[in-house]
Amino acid sequence: MPRKKKLVYFFGGGKAEGRATMRELLGGKGAGLHEMTRIGVPVPPGFTITTDVCSYYYGHHRQYPKGLESAVVAGLARVEKVLGRKFGNPENPLLVSVRSGARESMPGMMDTVLNLGLNDQTVQGLIRRTGNPRFAYDSYRRFIQMYADVVLGLNSKEKAEGDPFEVILEQKKHDRGVRFDTELDAKDLESVTNAFKELVKVRSGKEFPSDPHTQLWGAIGAVFGSWNNDRAVAYRDLYHIPHAWGTAVNVQAMVFGNLGEKCATGVAFTRNPSTGEKSFYGEFLVNAQGEDVVAGIRTPRPIIELKTVMPKPFRELQRVCKILEAHYEEMQDIEFTVEEDKLWTLQTRNGKRTGFAAVRIAVDMVGERIISKKEALLRIEPDHLNQLLRPIFDDKDKEQAAKEGRVLARGLPAGPGAATGRIVFHAEDAVTWKKSGERVVLCRTETSPDDIRGMEASEGILTARGGMTSHAALVARQMGKVCVAGCEVLNIDYTARTLRVGELVLKEGDWISVDGSTGEVIQGQIRTLPSEVLQVLLGGAQAPSKSNVFQQYARLMKWADEVRRLGVRTNTDQPDQARVAKLFGAEGIGLCRTEHMFFQGDRIQAVREMILAEDEAGRRRALAKLLPMQKEDFKGILDIMDGLPVTIRTLDPPLHEFLPHRDAEIIELAQVMAVPVDRLRNKVKVLQEFNPMLGHRGCRLGISYPEITEMQARAIFEAACELRRGGRNPFPEVMIPLVGSRGELVAQRKIVEQVARETMASYGVKLRYLIGTMIELPRACLLADEIAEQADFFSFGTNDLTQTCLGLSRDDAGKFLPTYVLDGLLPEDPFVSLDREGVGQLMRIAITKGRKVHGQLEIGICGEHGGDPKSVSFCHEIGLDYVSCSPFRVPIAKLAAAQAALRKIR
Ligand code: PEP
Ligand code: MG
Repeated sequence: MPRKKKLVYFFGGGKAEGRATMRELLGGKGAGLHEMTRIGVPVPPGFTITTDVCSYYYGHHRQYPKGLESAVVAGLARVEKVLGRKFGNPENPLLVSVRSGARESMPGMMDTVLNLGLNDQTVQGLIRRTGNPRFAYDSYRRFIQMYADVVLGLNSKEKAEGDPFEVILEQKKHDRGVRFDTELDAKDLESVTNAFKELVKVRSGKEFPSDPHTQLWGAIGAVFGSWNNDRAVAYRDLYHIPHAWGTAVNVQAMVFGNLGEKCATGVAFTRNPSTGEKSFYGEFLVNAQGEDVVAGIRTPRPIIELKTVMPKPFRELQRVCKILEAHYEEMQDIEFTVEEDKLWTLQTRNGKRTGFAAVRIAVDMVGERIISKKEALLRIEPDHLNQLLRPIFDDKDKEQAAKEGRVLARGLPAGPGAATGRIVFHAEDAVTWKKSGERVVLCRTETSPDDIRGMEASEGILTARGGMTSHAALVARQMGKVCVAGCEVLNIDYTARTLRVGELVLKEGDWISVDGSTGEVIQGQIRTLPSEVLQVLLGGAQAPSKSNVFQQYARLMKWADEVRRLGVRTNTDQPDQARVAKLFGAEGIGLCRTEHMFFQGDRIQAVREMILAEDEAGRRRALAKLLPMQKEDFKGILDIMDGLPVTIRTLDPPLHEFLPHRDAEIIELAQVMAVPVDRLRNKVKVLQEFNPMLGHRGCRLGISYPEITEMQARAIFEAACELRRGGRNPFPEVMIPLVGSRGELVAQRKIVEQVARETMASYGVKLRYLIGTMIELPRACLLADEIAEQADFFSFGTNDLTQTCLGLSRDDAGKFLPTYVLDGLLPEDPFVSLDREGVGQLMRIAITKGRKVHGQLEIGICGEHGGDPKSVSFCHEIGLDYVSCSPFRVPIAKLAAAQAALRKIR
């Protein structure tokens, strides 16, 4: 290390050698302390030993660079001067804390030593200064205990033995016949202190170091050493923090909130972190230490009461809050201590907040001219909007459930929101129970398209299997239902109608709650609160002008719309969902999965007839039954989305999904179709596939049975023509799925165009329409130029593209993907957030090739990634025209799109 490099930075008495921008060198905590001091906030004086010293220490066999010792001594001298106390002085001793502080916070991973500088002489000085011998000995014994553990490593590694210092303390309490530490007096604590020192001597063979300087260097070495303890290394691995960064060490004067009635400790927020309201918020305890607030032994008092108890520090705290919020232009979470009526600020950081508070604070700060609209947009995590759009659990109820150990398991947070209801195991039961006024949660090992009506009837859906793009997850999101998927510890027995988690068995009808934002599964009922924003949008409960939450939400969305470039459409196949999506600002439909409509009402019967028909004539008979129903569906959707594009996909899923499963169903169907039961049974068997996701699905269905595509196209164009005649402005985009070659699209396009021409001619109207394809196979990406010649638009089906690019089954990957993510083999679940390197590269190829031959080619995405903020950002970067996502994610995608646009400008 070059000799001139500064090793120690001082702060205190209104002056600081460091500043906020020096995080790399001083660590996050250090930089914050320097900055606070610099801007006039009262901070106990101290100094920071830089992260460079840490790097040197590890690079030189745990030796310190030359000059460190004298720099530390000089630092101490400056601290002494500010406070008028002296380190090691028995008359008026200075005590210090020694703490770690890395560039990124690593909470609780590294070591800390408090009350350093105490010995048999200085403890007398502390008694004289405070007039409180009990406090002095309590501090002394805590110091020895901490030092022996952190610096001397004397705490037992054997769990069975327990902490030998605690054993001594317990013995003392037992001897004195008391239950709590607080009931021990000064004499007791003095003898505990002596016993601690004795223990150190026995265990280490040496006296406890009484020289404060020796203590200090021991602590500094221990804190640097703790950078490489097991838990810190594991934490860095987990959060990808480079091991080379190193930690800084902060040596700072101790201040005490537990010296008597003129002392206190607490936490203050510059705004309410739950609601975002601009009100002074926080709590404190008189005569206490910081850890007492956290430990919850005593119940803290609301901060406003500090005004009467300690008016001067209260005023000072208000001043400090104002300075800090104005300085950081952000809501601050501040730790403070009052020692003998004087306020000290120990830490400030941007306060964690709920989604409600995040929106309110950002919008309010624009109004208060603290930040710009752009900054406000960038401040809010898009996913935070979920809290405004979905029902949420009552916090207190949920906390209570956690306390009572009712959180049973955690699955994938597949459909955000909160749902509570009674357990049902079958879709039909969900429907009947709902009809009789019950709220239900549908619990399944996995779901299938057959379950759709049951899912619709449920408050929430819980599955034991399946990932984030499993059927349950995907449909639930589209419906705006709460869903926890892939909760592998659940054992569901459909016959016994039970759900088992370990020893616990829940029965049909028992209450269960699922948190689709966290994945938690909770036993029993928890109160839920509806989304105010949604209620206002749907025209219920309150007028827009009366709802503050709605006003803030609307303002934010307006700002997002002003800056985003990406369009945002929605994935939906039902008029009521389309209506909600439009209220959320969807600019069209990016994916209407026609097959979902096949399960409604009696349609499934006609669909089954179509699949199981012996020949084309039989299929056409069944299709003729479906045509009017599909037409009505399309009409509903095209009508609601009047003037906006509606992308309707032709039939996609493996046919066998529609097959009858139970024998009774086969028998009934055989009667309707007037065919022998055995023949039908056989046909069902023949249609089963080993690998349905890569089997007879997508455009392969339309290639095998062109009459299906024909019927669907007819339903679309007849619906559109009828609307057009009625003065509406429908804009259908017909989308062919799972295309892998130009030829497939040519064949399907021909059918659709033919029907379009015929229908428009017979209705005598002209329609605006497009014919395009999904890009969801690697081959389609590689041959995108050829395919583009036949396509008016591309829409990336990134669910299938992820599956086929990575060779990962959408339905089965849940079993091993978490291990991959945990081991760092994949950065994230690629079905949740786009795999930029692999799938992203294929997308880039497709875009470049597609646009080369078709400059005007409209390109969007309709896989689930279209609602994932990080993936939305990628879609912006690679130049897509729009993203399409489930209705409730539309506002989230809009905000993410706005952020992507703003970041690019930055
Ligand atoms: C996709 O594959 O991304 C897609 C949207 O289609 P589906 O999920 O219906 O296969
Ligand atoms: Mg697909």
